[in-house]
Amino acid sequence: MKTHPADLSHEFKRLFRTMTFVAGRSALHERGPQAQRFAEIYQQLGVLWEFLALQCRHTAGWRKLRAGKLACKLCGTLRDAPERWLLLPRDGRKTVGRKRLPNSGETFPNKRVATIVDDTIAFHGATLSVAVHNAYRSRMLRSGSGECDVSIAADRCVRVREGAMECWMDTSLAQLTLRGRKRGERPPYGAFVFELPKRVLKRFPILIEHDSRGDLVGVTVFRPVPVQSRRKTAKAAPRKRAGSRSERSGTRGA
Ligand SMILES: [Zn+2]
Repeated sequence: MKTHPADLSHEFKRLFRTMTFVAGRSALHERGPQAQRFAEIYQQLGVLWEFLALQCRHTAGWRKLRAGKLACKLCGTLRDAPERWLLLPRDGRKTVGRKRLPNSGETFPNKRVATIVDDTIAFHGATLSVAVHNAYRSRMLRSGSGECDVSIAADRCVRVREGAMECWMDTSLAQLTLRGRKRGERPPYGAFVFELPKRVLKRFPILIEHDSRGDLVGVTVFRPVPVQSRRKTAKAAPRKRAGSRSERSGTRGA
C-alpha cells in the first residue's frame, strides 16, 4: 500500500531532520571509525530518501535552486532527474510511464537519437514491448552501389508476446503471428483472403467480423490445437472435444 500524501510529507520532514542531524555531527568531519560510522548512516539515509521519493507524485510544486534547477517541494527530487527505480503496488492497477507518441516532424540522423522510448516488461509470463521513435535515416537497407539511406517513418510499435504467439501493432499494422519461424525455415507465404481458393480457406479457422455497414471490426483466429495435446484431450474428454469440433466446423461453414 502507498503512503498517504500527508503521511509522506511527515515522513520526508522526519528524514530530512535526521539527515541534517547526522550531517551536523562534528565526528563526521574528523578522521576515525566514528566518522566512518556516521558516513555509513548518512549513505543509508540517502538510499531511504531515494526509495521514499518514489512514492512522491511531485505535485506539490517546484522550488528553485541556486543552479537554476528545480526541485520538488515535497521530496526534493530534481526535475527531469532520471529515476532509476519504479514503485508498483502489488494489488490493483499498475501504471508504468505515460503514452508516448512521435513528437517531432524532423528526420533524425540515426535511430538512437530518434528513439523516444524503447522499453520491455515481463508481466506474469507475458512480455510487452513499446518502442516509439521519430523519423530517422537508416543505413540498414543501403544497397551496395548507391549511397542512398532509407528514411524510416516516425512510429509507435507495441508488441505482446505469449509463448510462441506474438501480436504486433503499429500505426499501419495489427499483425498476429501464431508461431515464430524456425531456424533455416523459409519465410511464410502471404495472401489476401480473396486470393485464396475455398479449399485452402477451409483449413484456416479464421473469423472475420464486420458491422452492418460492411466495415471490418475484428479478426478472430481459432488457435490450432497441436496434434499431441489433441490426442490427449480426445482420450480424456471425448464428448466435449467432439462438441467443440462440430462447433468449429459450423463456424467455418458459415
Ligand atoms: Zn516529489
